[in-house]
Amino acid sequence: MADCGKCGAPAVTFLRHAGRHLCAEHFIDLTESRVQRAIRQQADLSQGGTIAVACSGGKDSMTCLDILRRTVEPRRDTRVVVITVDEGIAGYRDSSIPIAREHCEEHGLEWVLTSIGEEQGVTLDQVAAAGLAETPCAYCGVWRRWSMNRAAREAGARHLATGLNLDDTAQSVLMNVCRGDVERLARLGPHTRVQPGLVPRLQPLRWIPEVESYLYAHLRGIPIHNAECPHLGRAQRGRYRGILHQLQEDEPGVAHALVRSMERMRPGLEVVFPPIELTPCPDCGEPSPGEGTCKACSMRAKVREALEG
Ligand code: SF4
Repeated sequence: MADCGKCGAPAVTFLRHAGRHLCAEHFIDLTESRVQRAIRQQADLSQGGTIAVACSGGKDSMTCLDILRRTVEPRRDTRVVVITVDEGIAGYRDSSIPIAREHCEEHGLEWVLTSIGEEQGVTLDQVAAAGLAETPCAYCGVWRRWSMNRAAREAGARHLATGLNLDDTAQSVLMNVCRGDVERLARLGPHTRVQPGLVPRLQPLRWIPEVESYLYAHLRGIPIHNAECPHLGRAQRGRYRGILHQLQEDEPGVAHALVRSMERMRPGLEVVFPPIELTPCPDCGEPSPGEGTCKACSMRAKVREALEG
């Protein structure tokens, strides 16, 4: 490996998209400054208050939590609450939860554990075994967002930060364009409009590639859960992840370009697809588009029917 382009020390990485070799210290500095810039663009931290951070114990959420904690630590008016969702995936989530919990204990952070099994009456493993047409991930995503939003709101959070990285966002852009789902593209976060009952999302790792999130956690010595969910193979997103990796082999800046393109289209998309008014779901009270039952409740009813029938 060559020397760091900033100080001449041995480099630990070469950022292909930026054409730079960096040593550990300068890589950490660069990552933190990019994350802090993303936070400043999405939220006004000077107002203080509570920030909720969704943390599974995986590399992205642990990196996100670590940088956010370091960013707000000097501020006495800001409180961080960490939310971990237990989806009920045996042999997977039960080994990541202790990592998140112990990290919070070590740094004196408030930690909240929610359980999809308790909230929805069914675990993700039961969903996977129910023989439904949709993948377990379709249910997992909806119920996890439901759970995180409720826990963040109950904690009085002004923002809910998630560990979505650059690759995740680029995959979502690619997937929605390939499916022709322009409306969903327009609704990708982070959101600027505050809706009643919905805690606005922060995406601090928005410009951090997955591999750099991993390297940051490694260099900082942050413990992470490094396993794959047993239901991942059924996720449609996996195909787009593979395509994006292939494209990035030849064009290292392609993920940045996809997300930047989406950002440039966003003002026009928001005119065509203005934010949907949210109303409380008649079953659970959580914000729901339109007047009927929210997606989390209709999915729960569908799974119960499949399991009971
Ligand atoms: Fe949930 Fe799918 Fe992720 Fe597993 S791979 S945690 S089921 S979204």
